[in-house]
Amino acid sequence: MNVVTLHAANPGPMTGSGNWTYLLPGPRPLLVDAGVGHDDHLARLFEAVPGGPATVVVTHAHSDHASGAPALHERAPAIRFLKVPWPDSDAAYAVPWDALDDGQVLETAEGPLTVVHTPGHSPDHVVLWHEASRTAFTGDLLVRGSTVVIPASRGGVLADYLHSLGRLAALGPRRALPAHGPVIDDPLAVIDAYLAHRRDRERQVLETLGETPATIPALVGRIYRELHPALVAMAGESVLAHLVMLEGQARVARDGATWRLVR
Ligand SMILES: [Zn+2]
Repeated sequence: MNVVTLHAANPGPMTGSGNWTYLLPGPRPLLVDAGVGHDDHLARLFEAVPGGPATVVVTHAHSDHASGAPALHERAPAIRFLKVPWPDSDAAYAVPWDALDDGQVLETAEGPLTVVHTPGHSPDHVVLWHEASRTAFTGDLLVRGSTVVIPASRGGVLADYLHSLGRLAALGPRRALPAHGPVIDDPLAVIDAYLAHRRDRERQVLETLGETPATIPALVGRIYRELHPALVAMAGESVLAHLVMLEGQARVARDGATWRLVR
């Protein structure tokens, strides 16, 4: 598959070395993710496809994937912007969004891409599946060498995320092109490692609550040893994500801000 990898030029604390966007050139070029509107990204994109992409698919509305849409729209007003709707978040980016659906097929010069709705990291998250090469454009579903944050207080749902990992695994991917970090040549192994990690974390949460009921900050302090202060909030989101899933299974309950085991 002929894919041009374009860096969004946005390194930072939340994006690591920054985001990758992926261009499928051809008569009707398709760009996966909009970047953040950085001049370097726009320059490389319009050098590769001087008329601009025909279509931009945004994997989800987090700003490092979507906030470049208005700059692209301004430069090339004919671009069609596609994503699964998440109205509260999409409204932050002033472009006309067209709704993507699970199972929808997008034609490209490299053959069809199938939309796979993969909520969990965010409610609107999609993976694009290229069956011919068994390649998945995975957005923020997978990151080599790291787990994926489930921002539970901002639309993240761990149970949905685990289901989405299962959907991707069932496709039998050979390669994943993520929005952050290196290309993943063994996506099934990464998914297995994620599932094992989540089981370990769940066991830690249950064991810790088994000793005594606790608030989320207390749980974070006991589960994550030597956590960098900048990462405490993210760890809290991860613990909350587990608690909400366990609450849905009636295995934990909350009294105000304090969580306890259901015995
Ligand atoms: Zn994200």
